Amino acid sequence: MKLVLFYWYVWALLGAYFIYEFVRPRIRGFFGEKTVSMILSTLDPSKYRVINNLMLKSGAATIQIDHVVVSDHGIFVIETRNYKGLIFGDEHQEQWTQVINKFKTRFENPVRQNYGHIQAIKQTLGNYPDSIYFSIIAFTTKSTLRVNADSADVVHTTRLLKAIKDHDTEIITNGIRDEIYNALVSDNINKRPERKKHIEYIHNVQNEIKTKVRSGVCPKCNGKLVSRKGKYGPFIGCSNFPRCRYMAKSTNANAEMNANTRYKAKLMSNRN
Ligand SMILES: [Zn+2]
Repeated sequence: MKLVLFYWYVWALLGAYFIYEFVRPRIRGFFGEKTVSMILSTLDPSKYRVINNLMLKSGAATIQIDHVVVSDHGIFVIETRNYKGLIFGDEHQEQWTQVINKFKTRFENPVRQNYGHIQAIKQTLGNYPDSIYFSIIAFTTKSTLRVNADSADVVHTTRLLKAIKDHDTEIITNGIRDEIYNALVSDNINKRPERKKHIEYIHNVQNEIKTKVRSGVCPKCNGKLVSRKGKYGPFIGCSNFPRCRYMAKSTNANAEMNANTRYKAKLMSNRN
């Protein structure tokens, strides 16, 4: 028994560790993006219009773009990377390399990725000249950059504002700038109606499960649900047990199914 408990403890620890390892880069990524949107929020809003986390439909795919700044000086498309270590890369390579303590990992060339993002924006906006687009890759300062790129500015987040403000020629009129901004905002699928749709979908799935349970059908295997007696009292389970281990969660489902069965029985007796 003691041995079993020991194993349980080890497994719980291992599980917690893997969850931590899984969640950590996401949290890091989240903070990385947060800092960049904070940096961008210091830009004069009458001159620079910022869109964070822009999502555009491109064919069947959804393109996610970290930040877009629309200004009289051009459209700045910004990709952020919250990496540490040494970063080696050339704009023509398919993959770049991150080195931490002699340990190498490869990642997709962000200059290429951002080129794809610019193409998606061009598709949305239509006919504006290529010269108005500027690609910026912003790494957090934990990294050391050993990068060659001409078609994009690869900078630390501390140099991001300078990279934007270095382009000081007016190439877009105020009217066109607002037109571009509005077009991007209206095509941004990262807004309420889309999220609503997603929530609706989840609700539909839940409703489908409820409907099935109510009519005595197992939502997992479409088998028949039956009332069973367990250790902790009666419950609704699948007749295909042990092949299917579905168990209706709430006692509500129990009551609902019973009511439905009674209703059906009543219908049957009315027919006879
Ligand atoms: Zn089942």
